[in-house]
Amino acid sequence: MKIISVVGTKDTGKTTLVVKIVKELVNRGFKVGTMKHMHQSFDIEGRDTWKHKEAGAELVIGSADETFFLINQKLDIENLLTRTECLLNLDYMVIEGLKYSNYAKISVSSFEDEFTIAKVNAKEITDEGLKELVDLIEKRAYGMLPYMDCKDCGFENCKDMAKAAAMGKVSEQVCVMKKMKDIELKVDGKPVPLNPFVQAFVQNTTIGMLSSLRGETLKDFQTKKIELMIKGGTIEKTY
Ligand code: SF4
Repeated sequence: MKIISVVGTKDTGKTTLVVKIVKELVNRGFKVGTMKHMHQSFDIEGRDTWKHKEAGAELVIGSADETFFLINQKLDIENLLTRTECLLNLDYMVIEGLKYSNYAKISVSSFEDEFTIAKVNAKEITDEGLKELVDLIEKRAYGMLPYMDCKDCGFENCKDMAKAAAMGKVSEQVCVMKKMKDIELKVDGKPVPLNPFVQAFVQNTTIGMLSSLRGETLKDFQTKKIELMIKGGTIEKTY
């Protein structure tokens, strides 16, 4: 999932541009999610869901033809993106706001930083200009950063690699951790790097163990994805 933010001051057309970008990405066949960074609560006082939350519920779920999850705590951007990746298989996440993140940005005001890939006038952008902008998003936007700072890509840290990707100097594929996607290990939501040997070991032993299980559920089953969650446990460093 690639991430792109639309940033700018109030009433500069952020929502207008987000809507246009989403429509163009969807027209190109991508699955898109959006996120809006807000400074105030978005649940309306007096609503049933608001009453559930006020009663102390940590999670409130609104279920109809649409579903919404209201978690009664502030989550940081990485946490939100990780949870989104688990929920839906999206190609793009378009974020309205979050100008201080380390992801590629489009500015609709005077704001500009090292992650800004374009500055546009959201209210006057033409159809042709929008297509060029979305071409640029396809080229420059990148996915979640591993934040492991292993330096294997030749950059000092993940943030520097991201800056270079936003400037179009490298592709995020230079990140060795992103290439190792067959096996992912996360401890308390944070990705943990596994070298190819450990990846192969975990993959083979898990599949071997599952193959020896009896029961109809796993009989001759062609897997696309295996998920294993271990709740709790103490990890002791051995070096
Ligand atoms: S290889 Fe990936 S994880 Fe390592 S520093 Fe570069 S971007 Fe970060």
